[in-house]
Amino acid sequence: MIDENKVSQLVKDVLSEMNLSDVKLPAPRKQLGVFDTMEEALDAVNKAYTQFRKYNKEQRENIISEIRKLTHAEAETMAKLAVEDTKMGNVYHKILKHHLVADKTPGTEDLDTRAMSGDGGLTLVEMAPYGIIGAITPSTNPSCTVICNSIGMLAGGNAVVFNPHPHAKRISAYAVDLVNRAVLAAGGPENVVVTVANPTMDTSKMMVNHPSVKLLVATGGPGVVKMLLSSGKKAIGAGAGNPPVIVDETADIRKAAKDIIDGCTFDNNLPCIAEKEVFALKEVADELIHNMQKHGAYLLTPAQAKKLEDVVLVWTENKKGERVRTINKDWVGRDAKKIIAQLGIDVPEDMRCIICETDFSHPFVQTELMMPILPIVRVNNFDEAVEMAVKAEHGNRHTAHLHSKNVDHMTQYAKAIETTIFVKNAPSYAGIGFNAEGWTTFTIAGPTGEGITSPRSFTRLRRCVLSDALYII
Ligand code: NAD
Repeated sequence: MIDENKVSQLVKDVLSEMNLSDVKLPAPRKQLGVFDTMEEALDAVNKAYTQFRKYNKEQRENIISEIRKLTHAEAETMAKLAVEDTKMGNVYHKILKHHLVADKTPGTEDLDTRAMSGDGGLTLVEMAPYGIIGAITPSTNPSCTVICNSIGMLAGGNAVVFNPHPHAKRISAYAVDLVNRAVLAAGGPENVVVTVANPTMDTSKMMVNHPSVKLLVATGGPGVVKMLLSSGKKAIGAGAGNPPVIVDETADIRKAAKDIIDGCTFDNNLPCIAEKEVFALKEVADELIHNMQKHGAYLLTPAQAKKLEDVVLVWTENKKGERVRTINKDWVGRDAKKIIAQLGIDVPEDMRCIICETDFSHPFVQTELMMPILPIVRVNNFDEAVEMAVKAEHGNRHTAHLHSKNVDHMTQYAKAIETTIFVKNAPSYAGIGFNAEGWTTFTIAGPTGEGITSPRSFTRLRRCVLSDALYII
C-alpha cells in the first residue's frame, strides 16, 4: 500500500518546482468513449460488454492497474482541468484526491465467494456483474468519481455509461477517455466505459430508461437520488450530507482546531464529507476559535456574518410557492479569500477559512453550503450538542465528526446520529481513507445502504449448488 504522507510530500515537492499555470492541458482531439448522442454511447457500450464479459479477474485487474497508472500520471492535468471546467475547488487538493483514488479504490480483491459444504454437497455464492451500469456523477468531484466508479464497476465485471454533471462535462469526458486509454493499453476492448459529450436531463432519462442498463448509480444531491430511486430499477443512491462536528471538553483543542480547518477547507469544502458546522461545548469554544484563527481561519463579527448571508445565499421560491433561502451556486467551492473579498475585508495571505459564531437556526448551520465557511454554535453540554448535530444533519445519515477522548461520548453520538461515516479526532477526509485506514470511494451510498462503495457494491449475488458431491471430508 502506498504511503499517503509520501505521496503528499511528493506532490508538494513537484508543486514547489512548478507553477500550476504551467500545467499544459491536452490539445482538443477525438476522445475515446465520448459520443455525440446517448443512443451511440449505449450502442457502443453494449457491443463492448459482449467482449468484456469474457474477461477473467486477472485481465480486469490488469486494466485496473493501467487506470491507476494513468490517474497518477495525469493527476495534475485533471486537477487543473476540473477547476477550469467547474470554476470550483483547489488544484492542489484535487491532485491529492486523484492520487487517493488511484491508490485506494479497491480492485478485484474486494470480490469474494461464500462456500457452504456439508452432507448435501457444495453451494457457492458468487459476486457477479450486473451488466451495464448507468452512473450519474456530480460537479464537485467529477473526474475522481468517474475514475473511482470505473475501477469499482469494471472490477465487478460490469461496463458503464456515465451521464455526468453538465457543468463538469469536459473534465468528465477527459476521465472517460483516460479509462479507455488504460483499457486499450491493457489489451481490452474500447468503450467498456462511455459517456456523451453534452450530458443533459434528456440523455440522463434515456440512459435511465434503456433496457440494457441494469443498475443505476447516482452520486449527487437529493434531486438525482430521488429520481433514480423512483425509476423502477435497482439503484444505488449516494446523496447529500451536512456533516456536523462536535468538540467536547476532553478534546485536544489545538489539534481539533487544526483538523477541523484542514478538513473544512479541503478542496474548498466541496467533499460531501467535509465539516459543515461546529457545535462546541461552552467551556472550550473560546480556545477552539482562538486556535482556529492560528490555522488560517478569519472570525467574522456578527455584522459581517449578516453581510455574508447576502453574498452566499439567495432567495428562491420552493415548489409550494414559499420564499426560501438557498445557496448562491456562484460561490460553491470558491476560495475563502475570494468570498471574503466581497465584504471588502483585507485578510492575511494564509487565510483559508471563514468562521463565525451563530445560533442553531442560522442558515449557515442548516444549509449544505459547500464553501470554506464554518459556523460555530456554543452549546451548554454534550447532550445538547448531540441533539443539535442530529437535527442539523437532517436525517441524511451521511457523515458526522467528533473531537473527544471520551468513549461514552463517542458511543452516544454514534448511536444517535446513525451516519454512514463517523470520524473521531481527525480531519473529515480520514473518513475516505486519506491519512487513515480503509479504502476510498467518492460514492458514499447512505440512502440505499451500500455505504463506502467498492467493487462488491456493484455486483449481484448468484448461488451455484452442486448436490451430493465435492464435500470432501
Ligand atoms: P447535483 O445534485 O446538482 O448533480 C449531481 C448529478 O445529478 C449531476 O450529474 C446532475 O446533472 C444530476 N441531476 C441533478 N438533479 C437531477 C434530476 N432531477 N434528474 C436527473 N439528474 C439530475 O449535485 P452537484 O452539485 O454536482 O454535487 C453536490 C451534491 O452532491 C451535494 O449535495 C453533495 O453532498 C452530493 N454528493 C454526494 C456524494 C456522496 O458520495 N454521497 C458525493 C459527492 C457529492
